[in-house]
Amino acid sequence: MLLIGLGACEKYDSLAEIQARGELVVVSRNSPTTYYLGKNGPTGFEYALTELLAKELGVTLRLETVFSLPDIFQQLERNEADIAAAGLTLTDQRVDTFPATDAYYRMTPQVIYVAGQFRPRSIFDMQDMSLAVLKGSSHAELLREIQRIQAPNLAWIEVDEADTLHLLDLLKQQETDIVVVDSNEFAVQQSLFPRQSVAFDLGEEQDMVWYLPPDKDNENLLGAINNFFLQLQSDGTLERLRDQHLGHTDGITRMNAFTFDRAMSHKLPAYKALIKQVAKDYQIDWHLLAALAYQESQWNPKATSPTGVRGMMMLTLPTARELGVENRLDAEQSLRGGARYLKELMRRLPKNIKQPDRTWMALAAYNVGIGHLYDARALTERQGGNPDLWQDVEKRLPLLQQSKYYKNTRFGYARGQEAVTLVQNIRHYFSVLEWQDITEKQPMPPLPSDDYFPETVQDVEFLAL
Ligand code: GLU
Repeated sequence: MLLIGLGACEKYDSLAEIQARGELVVVSRNSPTTYYLGKNGPTGFEYALTELLAKELGVTLRLETVFSLPDIFQQLERNEADIAAAGLTLTDQRVDTFPATDAYYRMTPQVIYVAGQFRPRSIFDMQDMSLAVLKGSSHAELLREIQRIQAPNLAWIEVDEADTLHLLDLLKQQETDIVVVDSNEFAVQQSLFPRQSVAFDLGEEQDMVWYLPPDKDNENLLGAINNFFLQLQSDGTLERLRDQHLGHTDGITRMNAFTFDRAMSHKLPAYKALIKQVAKDYQIDWHLLAALAYQESQWNPKATSPTGVRGMMMLTLPTARELGVENRLDAEQSLRGGARYLKELMRRLPKNIKQPDRTWMALAAYNVGIGHLYDARALTERQGGNPDLWQDVEKRLPLLQQSKYYKNTRFGYARGQEAVTLVQNIRHYFSVLEWQDITEKQPMPPLPSDDYFPETVQDVEFLAL
């Protein structure tokens, strides 16, 4: 009786509940703009924000992912999460049911098309085109509104996925003419789809907000979150996190033969002796180390990226610490750290992987993390490929960007395509460096003996001949 009475007139204070539980439960989606497992553990804009909030509230964070946008809201309805933090747009329909926080980011919905194909410039143009959006997204809601008011012939399909990558993939496969995604998501994913461009902005900038469960007393929690956002705004944290997670696209170096050629004659000479020495100390082919250093920093020992990686070998702070690198901007320390890291990865790979595949897999792991590489190998095996062959694993790494595949892996979403591109680039630089040596008619070093050098060195050199 008492319980029923209480339930009927009083809702639970969600903040008090979180604090009593000692845990903040967040529902999100696994994607590069929200949450994913990076080289050094969980990361992403929403992960970073909710982790800070949990700290502020003195509780631990439990972040759960679902595979579609409607699932996110279902979790809230079922009181299975305290907060939905997933790059969600503030919409009229959503706020009818779900309490929303203040905005912590703004983005614009954009119509994306393939450059060279017909470029729509208005809603009117879109009516004759095939169009896809994420199911249950703010964009589906927006299109319904546009259809009702101005474009009754507008038609589209809704894809039941949580990551806009699927939409861009459909566009790439020519299964749709255009898609609508948020500007922040397109900016991050575009490097994987160099032929795709923005046709036009579909309306005004919109607010990104967190949503809370509908039937709780959220007043205190909302207050705490909005204060938390204000504080992050005023101390610059929000700006820093935006820049780190959304402000850049993890630059995939396009193979620019001209730039590389110039760098070989202008920049490399200053570091060649050093690279050779470090490579020798770590028993790595120097061309390989040089190629990796170029891919990472274009041989610039002072290179820094907004994600906090630095130096000739673009080491993260934790990795550098682990490797005993005190000053990441010191070319020699960075090269030694990177060489050691690469060797360590090669050592850890299963024995069955022979050269040169061993080198390519270690390079992929250098970029994406060894856990994700193991996931790609397991997936390769499941699909009947050979997990010890790079050519088979290379085909599966990009699949780790699709929920259909990564939901059955240990480490989840990974920027697999980027790792594959990186390995391709390095192999290209590697062979150009070798080729340059050969054309300069430098005598090749004698092949080292088995007991001193590991097979790595021999095989890599053999491959390049
Ligand atoms: N912001 C979108 C939403 O709230 C999701 C991302 C997208 O579809 O680009 O539904």
